[in-house]
Amino acid sequence: MSDCIFCKIVAGELPAKVVYENDQLLAFPTIEPKADTHLLVIPKKHTENLNTLTADDADMIAHLMTTLPKIAASAGLTGYRTITNTGAEGGQEVFHMHFHILGGDQLPGF
Ligand code: 5GP
Ligand code: ZN
Repeated sequence: MSDCIFCKIVAGELPAKVVYENDQLLAFPTIEPKADTHLLVIPKKHTENLNTLTADDADMIAHLMTTLPKIAASAGLTGYRTITNTGAEGGQEVFHMHFHILGGDQLPGF
């Protein structure tokens, strides 16, 4: 989507310190970290959030979920928290689906 900041990062039109990339996914640190390590993992293909996934996205979401631990491990994390916010009421601010990876220090219980 032309006005989506994460699509612009995928297109190289906005900068990001990419820590992981393959044909389907990109991972980079957030600009507003809430933990010692705070990465965002996004699909290159735009979709708003979990609510907009369709059956066609099944392979992509499975690939994303199984790649999250590899991205966490490459950031040196053994324990971490993954969050995806869905919709404004769910705290979502950027409407390109993303998974937060938080870790690097002891996280409080949830
Ligand atoms: P949400 O609240 O939608 O779940 O999370 C949005 C995330 O994107 C937040 O961690 C926010 O700090 C981050 N963010 C917003 N704009 C940018 C940006 O231009 N670059 C990067 N790297 N992160 C961003
Ligand atoms: Zn997008």
